[in-house]
Amino acid sequence: MSTPVVTVLGTGTMGAGMVRSLRRADVPVRMWNRDPAKARALTDTGAEAFDSPAEAADGADVVVTMLLDADAVLDVVRQAAPAAGTVWLQTSTVGLDGADRTVAAARELDLVLVDCPVLGTKEPAEKGALVLLASGPEEVRPRLDPVLDALGSKILWLGGAGAGSRLKMACNAWLFAVTAGVAQSVALARGLGLDPRDFLAAIEGGPLDTPYAHLKAGLMLDGEYPVSFALTGAAKDARLIRAALQEAAVDDRLTTAVLETIEAAADRLPDPAAVDLAAVVVGLTPGRG
Ligand code: NAP
Repeated sequence: MSTPVVTVLGTGTMGAGMVRSLRRADVPVRMWNRDPAKARALTDTGAEAFDSPAEAADGADVVVTMLLDADAVLDVVRQAAPAAGTVWLQTSTVGLDGADRTVAAARELDLVLVDCPVLGTKEPAEKGALVLLASGPEEVRPRLDPVLDALGSKILWLGGAGAGSRLKMACNAWLFAVTAGVAQSVALARGLGLDPRDFLAAIEGGPLDTPYAHLKAGLMLDGEYPVSFALTGAAKDARLIRAALQEAAVDDRLTTAVLETIEAAADRLPDPAAVDLAAVVVGLTPGRG
Protein backbone atom coordinates (compact mmCIF):
# COMPACT_ATOMS: atom_id res chain seq x y z
CA MET A 1 0.00 0.00 0.00
CA SER A 2 1.50 3.40 -1.03
CA THR A 3 1.92 6.22 1.48
CA PRO A 4 -1.30 8.24 1.68
CA VAL A 5 -1.41 11.98 1.04
CA VAL A 6 -2.48 13.60 4.31
CA THR A 7 -4.17 16.96 4.83
CA VAL A 8 -3.85 18.49 8.29
CA LEU A 9 -6.51 21.11 9.11
CA GLY A 10 -5.37 23.03 12.18
CA THR A 11 -1.71 23.61 12.96
CA GLY A 12 -1.95 24.93 16.51
CA THR A 13 0.10 23.42 19.33
CA MET A 14 -0.93 19.81 18.62
CA GLY A 15 -1.45 20.03 14.85
CA ALA A 16 1.99 21.58 14.33
CA GLY A 17 3.66 18.73 16.21
CA MET A 18 1.66 16.21 14.20
CA VAL A 19 2.76 17.80 10.90
CA ARG A 20 6.38 17.50 12.03
CA SER A 21 5.92 13.84 12.97
CA LEU A 22 4.21 13.01 9.66
CA ARG A 23 6.95 14.70 7.68
CA ARG A 24 9.69 12.90 9.65
CA ALA A 25 8.06 9.68 8.46
CA ASP A 26 8.07 11.03 4.87
CA VAL A 27 4.29 11.25 4.68
CA PRO A 28 3.26 13.93 2.13
CA VAL A 29 1.38 16.68 4.00
CA ARG A 30 -0.93 19.48 2.78
CA MET A 31 -2.02 21.82 5.54
CA TRP A 32 -4.22 24.77 6.41
CA ASN A 33 -4.59 26.93 9.52
CA ARG A 34 -6.97 29.83 10.21
CA ASP A 35 -3.98 32.01 11.12
CA PRO A 36 -1.90 31.27 7.99
CA ALA A 37 1.37 32.25 9.67
CA LYS A 38 1.25 29.10 11.81
CA ALA A 39 1.01 26.84 8.74
CA ARG A 40 3.65 28.82 6.84
CA ALA A 41 6.01 28.36 9.80
CA LEU A 42 5.94 24.61 9.10
CA THR A 43 6.83 24.65 5.41
CA ASP A 44 10.49 23.99 6.31
CA THR A 45 9.33 20.41 6.97
CA GLY A 46 8.35 20.03 3.32
CA ALA A 47 4.63 20.23 4.13
CA GLU A 48 2.66 22.51 1.77
CA ALA A 49 0.56 25.37 3.19
CA PHE A 50 -2.71 26.35 1.49
CA ASP A 51 -4.99 29.38 1.76
CA SER A 52 -8.25 27.48 2.29
CA PRO A 53 -9.38 24.15 3.75
CA ALA A 54 -10.74 23.14 0.33
CA GLU A 55 -7.42 23.70 -1.45
CA ALA A 56 -5.58 21.82 1.30
CA ALA A 57 -7.99 18.86 1.12
CA ASP A 58 -7.83 18.59 -2.68
CA GLY A 59 -6.46 15.17 -3.57
CA ALA A 60 -6.03 14.00 0.02
CA ASP A 61 -6.40 10.34 0.96
CA VAL A 62 -6.70 11.19 4.65
CA VAL A 63 -7.92 14.46 6.18
CA VAL A 64 -6.84 15.08 9.78
CA THR A 65 -8.69 17.66 11.89
CA MET A 66 -6.88 19.02 14.96
CA LEU A 67 -8.91 22.08 15.92
CA LEU A 68 -10.12 23.62 19.14
CA ASP A 69 -13.64 22.22 19.45
CA ALA A 70 -16.57 20.58 17.67
CA ASP A 71 -17.91 23.82 16.18
CA ALA A 72 -14.52 24.61 14.59
CA VAL A 73 -14.13 21.00 13.37
CA LEU A 74 -17.55 20.90 11.71
CA ASP A 75 -17.18 24.34 10.17
CA VAL A 76 -13.73 23.59 8.74
CA VAL A 77 -14.52 20.07 7.45
CA ARG A 78 -17.57 21.44 5.62
CA GLN A 79 -15.39 24.15 4.05
CA ALA A 80 -12.84 21.48 3.11
CA ALA A 81 -15.52 19.27 1.51
CA PRO A 82 -13.13 16.33 0.92
CA ALA A 83 -13.95 13.93 -1.93
CA ALA A 84 -16.47 11.19 -1.11
CA GLY A 85 -14.80 8.19 0.47
CA THR A 86 -11.86 10.16 1.95
CA VAL A 87 -10.79 8.97 5.39
CA TRP A 88 -11.46 11.65 8.02
CA LEU A 89 -9.17 11.23 11.04
CA GLN A 90 -10.80 13.44 13.66
CA THR A 91 -8.27 13.97 16.47
CA SER A 92 -9.60 17.07 18.30
CA THR A 93 -11.25 16.68 21.70
CA VAL A 94 -14.95 17.15 20.97
CA GLY A 95 -16.74 15.22 23.74
CA LEU A 96 -19.77 12.97 23.40
CA ASP A 97 -22.15 15.38 21.71
CA GLY A 98 -19.34 16.61 19.43
CA ALA A 99 -18.55 13.02 18.43
CA ASP A 100 -22.21 12.43 17.56
CA ARG A 101 -22.16 15.56 15.43
CA THR A 102 -19.01 14.41 13.58
CA VAL A 103 -20.62 11.02 12.89
CA ALA A 104 -23.62 12.83 11.36
CA ALA A 105 -21.35 15.16 9.33
CA ALA A 106 -19.34 12.21 7.99
CA ARG A 107 -22.56 10.60 6.81
CA GLU A 108 -23.71 13.85 5.20
CA LEU A 109 -20.35 14.42 3.43
CA ASP A 110 -19.83 10.72 2.59
CA LEU A 111 -16.52 10.52 4.49
CA VAL A 112 -15.10 7.52 6.33
CA LEU A 113 -14.82 8.81 9.89
CA VAL A 114 -12.21 7.57 12.32
CA ASP A 115 -12.92 9.31 15.62
CA CYS A 116 -9.45 9.42 17.16
CA PRO A 117 -8.79 11.80 20.04
CA VAL A 118 -5.27 11.68 21.43
CA LEU A 119 -3.51 11.47 24.77
CA GLY A 120 -0.29 13.41 25.11
CA THR A 121 0.60 17.01 24.76
CA LYS A 122 2.91 19.27 22.72
CA GLU A 123 6.09 17.21 23.10
CA PRO A 124 4.55 13.78 22.38
CA ALA A 125 2.83 15.33 19.32
CA GLU A 126 6.22 16.56 18.08
CA LYS A 127 7.90 13.21 18.79
CA GLY A 128 5.20 11.02 17.22
CA ALA A 129 4.55 9.61 20.69
CA LEU A 130 0.83 10.25 21.13
CA VAL A 131 -1.61 7.63 22.38
CA LEU A 132 -4.28 7.32 19.69
CA LEU A 133 -7.81 6.37 20.76
CA ALA A 134 -9.04 5.21 17.35
CA SER A 135 -12.63 4.23 16.65
CA GLY A 136 -14.21 3.58 13.28
CA PRO A 137 -14.39 0.95 10.54
CA GLU A 138 -11.55 -1.56 10.93
CA GLU A 139 -11.22 -1.95 7.14
CA VAL A 140 -9.50 1.45 6.86
CA ARG A 141 -6.68 0.35 9.15
CA PRO A 142 -4.28 -0.66 6.34
CA ARG A 143 -4.83 2.75 4.67
CA LEU A 144 -4.30 4.59 7.93
CA ASP A 145 -1.39 2.60 9.38
CA PRO A 146 1.41 4.81 7.96
CA VAL A 147 -0.35 7.87 9.39
CA LEU A 148 -1.08 6.40 12.80
CA ASP A 149 2.44 4.92 13.06
CA ALA A 150 3.91 8.38 12.40
CA LEU A 151 1.74 10.08 15.01
CA GLY A 152 1.52 7.60 17.84
CA SER A 153 3.51 5.32 20.10
CA LYS A 154 0.36 3.45 21.13
CA ILE A 155 -2.79 2.88 19.09
CA LEU A 156 -5.97 1.49 20.60
CA TRP A 157 -8.82 0.44 18.27
CA LEU A 158 -11.96 0.72 20.33
CA GLY A 159 -14.92 -0.12 18.12
CA GLY A 160 -17.40 2.05 16.25
CA ALA A 161 -16.76 5.78 15.70
CA GLY A 162 -17.44 7.66 18.93
CA ALA A 163 -15.87 5.12 21.29
CA GLY A 164 -12.55 7.01 21.13
CA SER A 165 -14.20 10.24 22.24
CA ARG A 166 -15.92 8.39 25.08
CA LEU A 167 -12.65 6.92 26.38
CA LYS A 168 -10.97 10.31 25.98
CA MET A 169 -13.42 11.71 28.55
CA ALA A 170 -12.44 9.05 31.10
CA CYS A 171 -8.73 9.68 30.43
CA ASN A 172 -9.10 13.47 30.66
CA ALA A 173 -11.04 13.14 33.91
CA TRP A 174 -7.94 11.40 35.31
CA LEU A 175 -5.58 14.04 33.88
CA PHE A 176 -7.59 16.87 35.42
CA ALA A 177 -7.90 15.16 38.80
CA VAL A 178 -4.12 14.59 38.91
CA THR A 179 -3.22 18.12 37.81
CA ALA A 180 -5.63 19.77 40.24
CA GLY A 181 -4.47 17.40 42.98
CA VAL A 182 -0.83 18.37 42.41
CA ALA A 183 -1.80 22.06 42.46
CA GLN A 184 -3.66 21.59 45.73
CA SER A 185 -0.74 19.79 47.41
CA VAL A 186 1.77 22.40 46.19
CA ALA A 187 -0.49 25.21 47.45
CA LEU A 188 -1.18 23.45 50.74
CA ALA A 189 2.50 22.74 51.42
CA ARG A 190 3.29 26.40 50.74
CA GLY A 191 0.36 27.56 52.89
CA LEU A 192 1.60 25.43 55.77
CA GLY A 193 5.01 27.04 55.55
CA LEU A 194 6.65 23.99 53.96
CA ASP A 195 8.83 23.69 50.90
CA PRO A 196 6.56 22.12 48.22
CA ARG A 197 9.63 20.27 46.92
CA ASP A 198 9.40 18.16 50.07
CA PHE A 199 5.94 17.01 48.91
CA LEU A 200 7.54 15.84 45.65
CA ALA A 201 10.40 14.20 47.55
CA ALA A 202 7.89 12.39 49.77
CA ILE A 203 5.97 10.80 46.86
CA GLU A 204 9.01 10.18 44.62
CA GLY A 205 9.48 6.53 43.64
CA GLY A 206 6.46 5.31 45.62
CA PRO A 207 3.11 4.00 44.41
CA LEU A 208 1.58 7.50 44.51
CA ASP A 209 4.27 8.97 42.26
CA THR A 210 3.72 9.94 38.64
CA PRO A 211 6.14 11.75 36.29
CA TYR A 212 3.29 14.14 35.50
CA ALA A 213 3.26 15.42 39.10
CA HIS A 214 6.92 16.44 38.84
CA LEU A 215 6.41 17.98 35.38
CA LYS A 216 3.43 20.13 36.37
CA ALA A 217 4.66 20.90 39.91
CA GLY A 218 7.92 22.15 38.39
CA LEU A 219 5.96 24.78 36.44
CA MET A 220 3.91 25.67 39.52
CA LEU A 221 7.06 26.12 41.61
CA ASP A 222 8.67 28.32 38.94
CA GLY A 223 5.44 30.30 38.47
CA GLU A 224 6.03 30.07 34.71
CA TYR A 225 3.58 28.32 32.48
CA PRO A 226 4.76 27.84 28.87
CA VAL A 227 1.83 26.30 27.01
CA SER A 228 1.61 22.59 26.40
CA PHE A 229 -2.14 22.55 27.04
CA ALA A 230 -3.65 26.03 27.24
CA LEU A 231 -5.76 26.86 30.30
CA THR A 232 -8.64 27.99 28.06
CA GLY A 233 -8.61 24.70 26.14
CA ALA A 234 -8.50 22.88 29.46
CA ALA A 235 -11.62 24.74 30.64
CA LYS A 236 -13.38 23.64 27.44
CA ASP A 237 -12.33 20.03 28.09
CA ALA A 238 -13.42 20.14 31.74
CA ARG A 239 -16.89 21.20 30.54
CA LEU A 240 -16.93 18.24 28.13
CA ILE A 241 -16.03 15.85 30.98
CA ARG A 242 -18.79 17.32 33.13
CA ALA A 243 -21.31 16.76 30.30
CA ALA A 244 -20.06 13.16 29.89
CA LEU A 245 -20.43 12.51 33.64
CA GLN A 246 -23.97 13.87 33.51
CA GLU A 247 -24.81 11.68 30.51
CA ALA A 248 -23.41 8.65 32.33
CA ALA A 249 -25.37 9.54 35.50
CA VAL A 250 -22.11 9.79 37.46
CA ASP A 251 -21.84 12.60 40.03
CA ASP A 252 -19.95 15.53 38.52
CA ARG A 253 -18.92 17.32 41.74
CA LEU A 254 -15.21 16.50 41.46
CA THR A 255 -14.91 17.79 37.89
CA THR A 256 -17.09 20.79 38.74
CA ALA A 257 -14.65 21.74 41.51
CA VAL A 258 -11.72 21.42 39.09
CA LEU A 259 -13.54 23.47 36.45
CA GLU A 260 -14.33 26.21 38.97
CA THR A 261 -10.66 26.28 40.01
CA ILE A 262 -9.56 26.58 36.36
CA GLU A 263 -12.08 29.41 35.87
CA ALA A 264 -10.85 31.19 39.03
CA ALA A 265 -7.29 30.95 37.69
CA ALA A 266 -8.38 32.25 34.27
CA ASP A 267 -10.08 35.25 35.93
CA ARG A 268 -6.86 36.11 37.78
CA LEU A 269 -4.50 35.80 34.82
CA PRO A 270 -4.04 38.49 32.12
CA ASP A 271 -4.06 36.01 29.19
CA PRO A 272 -5.36 32.55 30.14
CA ALA A 273 -4.93 31.35 26.55
CA ALA A 274 -1.18 31.94 26.86
CA VAL A 275 -0.58 29.78 29.95
CA ASP A 276 -0.51 26.06 30.58
CA LEU A 277 -3.10 24.11 32.58
CA ALA A 278 -0.47 24.00 35.38
CA ALA A 279 -1.55 27.60 36.09
CA VAL A 280 -4.67 26.07 37.69
CA VAL A 281 -2.66 26.54 40.90
CA VAL A 282 -3.36 30.28 40.58
CA GLY A 283 -7.04 29.45 41.19
CA LEU A 284 -6.03 28.16 44.62
CA THR A 285 -3.36 30.73 45.46
CA PRO A 286 -4.39 34.27 44.48
CA GLY A 287 -1.46 36.62 44.05
CA ARG A 288 1.06 33.80 43.65
CA GLY A 289 0.75 33.14 39.91
P1 NAP B 1 -4.43 25.36 20.02
O1 NAP B 1 -2.95 25.44 20.01
O2 NAP B 1 -5.21 26.45 20.70
O3 NAP B 1 -4.93 25.22 18.52
C1 NAP B 1 -6.29 25.30 18.22
C2 NAP B 1 -6.45 25.22 16.72
O4 NAP B 1 -7.83 25.39 16.41
C3 NAP B 1 -5.70 26.32 15.97
O5 NAP B 1 -5.29 25.80 14.73
C4 NAP B 1 -6.78 27.39 15.80
O6 NAP B 1 -6.55 28.28 14.74
C5 NAP B 1 -7.95 26.49 15.48
N1 NAP B 1 -9.25 27.11 15.67
C6 NAP B 1 -9.83 27.51 16.82
N2 NAP B 1 -11.05 28.01 16.57
C7 NAP B 1 -11.24 27.93 15.24
C8 NAP B 1 -12.32 28.27 14.38
N3 NAP B 1 -13.46 28.79 14.86
N4 NAP B 1 -12.17 28.04 13.05
C9 NAP B 1 -11.03 27.51 12.57
N5 NAP B 1 -9.97 27.17 13.33
C10 NAP B 1 -10.10 27.36 14.65
O7 NAP B 1 -4.95 24.01 20.69
P2 NAP B 1 -4.24 22.58 20.78
O8 NAP B 1 -3.59 22.47 22.12
O9 NAP B 1 -3.47 22.32 19.54
O10 NAP B 1 -5.53 21.65 20.86
C11 NAP B 1 -6.23 21.23 19.70
C12 NAP B 1 -7.21 20.15 20.12
O11 NAP B 1 -6.49 19.06 20.72
C13 NAP B 1 -8.23 20.58 21.17
O12 NAP B 1 -9.44 19.93 20.92
C14 NAP B 1 -7.61 20.10 22.49
O13 NAP B 1 -8.57 19.89 23.49
C15 NAP B 1 -6.98 18.79 22.02
N6 NAP B 1 -5.84 18.30 22.80
C16 NAP B 1 -4.89 19.15 23.26
C17 NAP B 1 -3.83 18.63 23.99
C18 NAP B 1 -2.74 19.51 24.52
O14 NAP B 1 -2.05 19.09 25.45
N7 NAP B 1 -2.52 20.70 23.98
C19 NAP B 1 -3.73 17.27 24.23
C20 NAP B 1 -4.72 16.41 23.71
C21 NAP B 1 -5.78 16.94 22.98
P3 NAP B 1 -5.68 29.62 14.99
O15 NAP B 1 -4.25 29.18 15.07
O16 NAP B 1 -5.97 30.47 13.79
O17 NAP B 1 -6.17 30.22 16.29
